[in-house]
Amino acid sequence: MVPTMEIPVTRASQSKINQVDFQNIQFGKVYSDHMFIADYDGKQWSDLRIEPFADLTMSPATSVLHYGQSIFEGLKAYKNEADEALVFRPDRNAARFNKSAVRMCMPEVSEDIFLNGLRELVKLDKDWIPDRVGTSLYVRPFMIATDEYIGVRPSQTYRFMIFTGPVGAYYSKPVRVKVEKQFVRAAEGGTGFSKTAGNYAGSLYPAQLAAQEGYDQLIWTDANEHKYIEEAGTMNLMLVIDDTLLTPPTSGTILDGITRESILTLAQDWGMKTEVRRISVKEIIQAIEQNRLKEAFGAGTAATVAHIQAIANDGIDYELPPVENREFSNKVLKALDDIKYGRAEDTQGWVMKVD
Ligand SMILES: *Cc1c(COP(=O)(O)O)cnc(C)c1O
Repeated sequence: MVPTMEIPVTRASQSKINQVDFQNIQFGKVYSDHMFIADYDGKQWSDLRIEPFADLTMSPATSVLHYGQSIFEGLKAYKNEADEALVFRPDRNAARFNKSAVRMCMPEVSEDIFLNGLRELVKLDKDWIPDRVGTSLYVRPFMIATDEYIGVRPSQTYRFMIFTGPVGAYYSKPVRVKVEKQFVRAAEGGTGFSKTAGNYAGSLYPAQLAAQEGYDQLIWTDANEHKYIEEAGTMNLMLVIDDTLLTPPTSGTILDGITRESILTLAQDWGMKTEVRRISVKEIIQAIEQNRLKEAFGAGTAATVAHIQAIANDGIDYELPPVENREFSNKVLKALDDIKYGRAEDTQGWVMKVD
């Protein structure tokens, strides 16, 4: 258990919660009343506080705006039937945040600060957690470089913040994806494993080109040969071939997704065969042609499981089996949801109760 620390709270004078149409929540556009802030002065984190959600003011010379020392996390809080707030594996997000920080030359945030900031914030804005089926409160921790200096060097000062916002049920329509062989998301030695802003900036243009061709997302391939699959858009890629669950290893180029890891754990618990290894595009296409590829999906916090309906490779669209027939991904989606919403016993110790 994490020791609690004193975090001073300045409450919003008036809640905005009545202005929100909870029947119709648009993703990423509505924010709760408060935000958590901590500042790093070059030596330590201090001035932990919760304030009303508000704009930031900063110098145009602020380092993050120019050189992109910026990292983030994404996780969700859920409401159970007893009206308690549950957060799924936030300790894993705290650990990953620090891996991202080290790579981007930014200071680590202690698990204490990360989890307590998150806990106090979610507790304070608990009423913002929607309770309709499939809805949740999205939690966005992030850190930016705040030196007012446009020389290229690591900033000395930083700000760590967390804000939240209600999100609607994620009815993910099965996606059509294209195997990308021209652009790369990440290369060995680069920043692919880090949840840092630039990775997403660099992925927008290739994703836009694919969208113009009618694809929802890309399957990134390795930067050296474009032979091996990496991730599906901003999700980890998982496949069921014959009766084996397959996914590439999280290396320097693949983000270590918490959904991916949780799915692997459940599959192993259920006695399913799992293989974490490099998977070539050729192997996938062969498996499709031999009717051995049963399921393909993206794994990530937003959708948990995003079924892949078709994979395009070298100009050919390969349609995958109907989503209703996908035994594993449907089962694991339900199992994870049951844990997250507190409907199933949390045998793995994955859920943090906030209050
Ligand atoms: C966040 C993210 C994921 C998924 O991680 P989860 O912890 O499962 O949400 C996968 N790939 C990329 C590139 C990501 O940014």
